[in-house]
Amino acid sequence: MHSDDIWPRSLDLIRQEVGENIFDLWFSPIRLLQIKEGTAVLEVPNRFFKEWIEDYHPTLVTDALERVTSTRLGVRYRVSGNEDAALKRADARMRSRKSKLARKGIYLNPRYTFESFVTGPSNQFAHAAAMAVSETPGRVYNPLFIYGGVGLGKTHLITAVGNRVVDRSQEVNVLYVSAEQFTNEVVSSFRHGKTEELKSKYRNLDMILLDDVQFVENKAATQEELFHTLNVLYEKQKQIVLSSDRPPKEMKQMTDRLRSRFGMGLIADIQPPEVETKMAIIQKKAEQDRLALGEDVVSYIASRVKSNVRDIEGCLIRLGAHSSLTGQPVTLAMAKTLLRDFIQEDDRPLSVEGIARTVAEYFGLKVADLKAKKRTKDIALPRQIAMHLARELTECSLSEIGKHLGGKDHATVIYACKQVEARSARDENFSRMVQTLRNKLQP
Ligand code: ADP
Ligand code: MG
Repeated sequence: MHSDDIWPRSLDLIRQEVGENIFDLWFSPIRLLQIKEGTAVLEVPNRFFKEWIEDYHPTLVTDALERVTSTRLGVRYRVSGNEDAALKRADARMRSRKSKLARKGIYLNPRYTFESFVTGPSNQFAHAAAMAVSETPGRVYNPLFIYGGVGLGKTHLITAVGNRVVDRSQEVNVLYVSAEQFTNEVVSSFRHGKTEELKSKYRNLDMILLDDVQFVENKAATQEELFHTLNVLYEKQKQIVLSSDRPPKEMKQMTDRLRSRFGMGLIADIQPPEVETKMAIIQKKAEQDRLALGEDVVSYIASRVKSNVRDIEGCLIRLGAHSSLTGQPVTLAMAKTLLRDFIQEDDRPLSVEGIARTVAEYFGLKVADLKAKKRTKDIALPRQIAMHLARELTECSLSEIGKHLGGKDHATVIYACKQVEARSARDENFSRMVQTLRNKLQP
């Protein structure tokens, strides 16, 4: 068969498989550039094609090519057009990191780098700590413990440490593992009597990136194994990087010695991004995805997506897909229609009730306790904090706030606010805690 026939014939097969509409949208614009060394290089109009095809029809193209050529070819996509040189370089760097990682048998997401991480006040501290650790692993902060809510970049940041270290040195044995996977490996090593193998795998690492360590709460045997593993690595001055959805002191179901091991280096938190940081993240991602977005769309997404960076990415993928499908540029009107289910139009003002609930939950109290006339010490402080936040974040009068929170008068509320402000000024941890609560209430 003539090589010019390969692609038209493959396209025919693909058309039969997916139907006319999808074919026209996603497959007919693709060109076959060359087949070389067992790989077919396909040119696609933009990066969404590649992602869409890989997500929805991961084997369709290879299968079609195989039926036409009787050869199992690899497939590579190349984005057409005049691409910005800097972006091309970034892509090339990522590809080379990808193959280097593969060669070394290290599983790290090559996209999660310091370069692609946007910093702002909410994550600066954790970012700086991660950078420091990647410069001199095992020397400065060991372990580095990063905690924060879902989708705020913990996995990204701890992976970036690994990528930086791999980029720099030839022989380094880095392992990224989720605590869940670690647990599975422990369980299976017990079951199959292979604990020695587990030990030799984990205790000979140069660096461990252990993600979502809160997963081992309640799991005594895994905690035991983890404790010894971390000890060995620590003794050998090997870097340990941990992530969690909460700080060590809030992991109640963790043995004391493991909890204190977690806190022996540096603990850094990631807070939800401020609007400005969200805007910077959106701009960066849009640029990476070659998606042109106006200022109005950027600030619309930044102000409406509450706090989760993963949701921001979801918005951009949807906009990008729609825009390349229809060939239309992204407009604010388009964003408003398309992103309806991502975005909560919930602009209801905060209530004292809502604040009481959040504060009570944070301190492990019952809402009723905060609201009732109880006067024990463990309730007094949370109640003062709730009063302070209610004055700051609601339109309620002082006496209303007092009435809802322990039946106090307005003078008590003023006193409470003063107390909280004074303590925030002199006690950094306290101030951070109040900020955490504020962020929970007003993401
Ligand atoms: P977590 O592990 O905290 O749940 P992830 O690290 O998985 O969150 O982040 C979710 C997504 O958001 C990832 O795709 C990540 O690249 C992206 N992301 C989070 N924070 C940032 C940031 N500051 N800059 C760029 N991308 C970010
Ligand atoms: Mg994660």
